[in-house]
Amino acid sequence: MIPVFDLTRQYKELQAELEPAVLGVLRSGKYILGEQVKLLEQELADYLKTKHAFGVANGSDALLLALMALDIQPGDEIITTPFTFFATAGAIARLGAKPIFVDVRADTYNIDEAQIEAAITSSTKAIIVVHLYGQMAAMDLIMKVAKQHGLAIIEDAAQAIGASYAGRMVGSYGDIACYSFFPTKNLGAAGDAGLVTTNDDELAAKLRILRVHGAAKKYHHEVVGINSRLDEMQAAVLRVKFKHLDLWTARRRAIAMEYTNLLREASGITPPKIDPKAVHVFHQYTVVADNRDALVERLDSQGVGTTVYYPVALNEQQCFSGLELRKQCPVAQELSKKVLSLPMFPELTDDEVKKVTESIISSL
Ligand SMILES: *Cc1c(COP(=O)(O)O)cnc(C)c1O
Repeated sequence: MIPVFDLTRQYKELQAELEPAVLGVLRSGKYILGEQVKLLEQELADYLKTKHAFGVANGSDALLLALMALDIQPGDEIITTPFTFFATAGAIARLGAKPIFVDVRADTYNIDEAQIEAAITSSTKAIIVVHLYGQMAAMDLIMKVAKQHGLAIIEDAAQAIGASYAGRMVGSYGDIACYSFFPTKNLGAAGDAGLVTTNDDELAAKLRILRVHGAAKKYHHEVVGINSRLDEMQAAVLRVKFKHLDLWTARRRAIAMEYTNLLREASGITPPKIDPKAVHVFHQYTVVADNRDALVERLDSQGVGTTVYYPVALNEQQCFSGLELRKQCPVAQELSKKVLSLPMFPELTDDEVKKVTESIISSL
C-alpha cells in the first residue's frame, strides 16, 4: 500500500526532537501565546522576509482575520478563485461579503489574471489569491490590476510556504498573507495552527488585537475580534519541524521531477505545468487525467492512494447557490472532474514513486 500521505514516517524520524519539545511545554505550565509562539513568529517572519507574523488557531481563521483587518463589510465583493479549499471563500461569506469567482487557468490551475479586471465593480474591495498546490499565481500581473483599481490583496499561502514568484518570496506581494499548518501541509503541526503576516504596521496593529477578541489590554476591547490564539504545544512542534522545511521542500521538488519524467509517455495524463517564473513547492503533485474516476479505482485496487483536490468547484457549491453573482467557471468545473493528486510527502521513497507511475501506466 502506498498512501497518499503518511505522517507516521515523519514522526518516527523526528521523535527524538519532538518529544522533548512537547514535554517542555507540558512542564512549563504556559500553554497559549507564550514563549514558543513568540519564537516561532520571529523565526517564520525572518524566513518569510516579512515584518510582522502572528500565530493563529488555523489557516481558515488567518483568512477571516485578514479580511477583518481590511475592514471588509457585508455586501463588499471579494474576487477569488473557485478552485481552492472551501476556507478561502468561506471566510468571505462569514463576514457577509460576496465571493466573486473568477475562473482559473487550465495550465497552472491558479486564478486567470487576464479575467480579473472584467469582474471588478464599484463594490470590489480585495482579491484573495490562492497559490494552489504550492505554485504561486501570476503575482506581477495581478498586482498591476490591483494597484490600478485600488484593491487590497490577500495571499492564501496555505499550500505554498517556501514558494516564490519572479524572485520574490510568497507573501511579499500582498497586503496580508495567510498560512495553514494543518498536519498535512508542507509545514504541519500536530493539530490545528495558522499564521498571518504583513509588512504594514497599521494592519499589524489590527491583526495583533483581532486574534484576542479585539483587546490590546486584557478585558478592554477596542474592536470586536475573535478568539484565534495559537497554543504553545503546536508552536513547539512547528519550531522543530521548521528546521527541516527547506530539505523537505527540496525532496518534494525532486519527487515531482521524477513523477513528470516517468509519466512522460503516459497518454491521457497531463503532468502539472510549472510557470517559468515560479518556484513550485509541490504541496500536491496534481495531474489532469482524461478518465479520472476509472483510474482512481484501478489505482486503489493496486494499493496506490490518490486524492481529488477538489471534486466540486466553489461556484457550484450548494451553500453559494443563492449568490446572485454566481456564474459559470468552465475551466474550474472541468478540472474538478479531471484532477488527481498522487502520493506526495518528503518521506516517499524512490521505489514508491516508481511503483505509482508504473501502476498508472498499466491502468491507462
Ligand atoms: C488548508 C487550507 C486552508 C485552511 O487552513 P486550515 O488550517 O485547515 O483552516 C485555506 N486555504 C487553502 C488553500 C488551504 O489549502
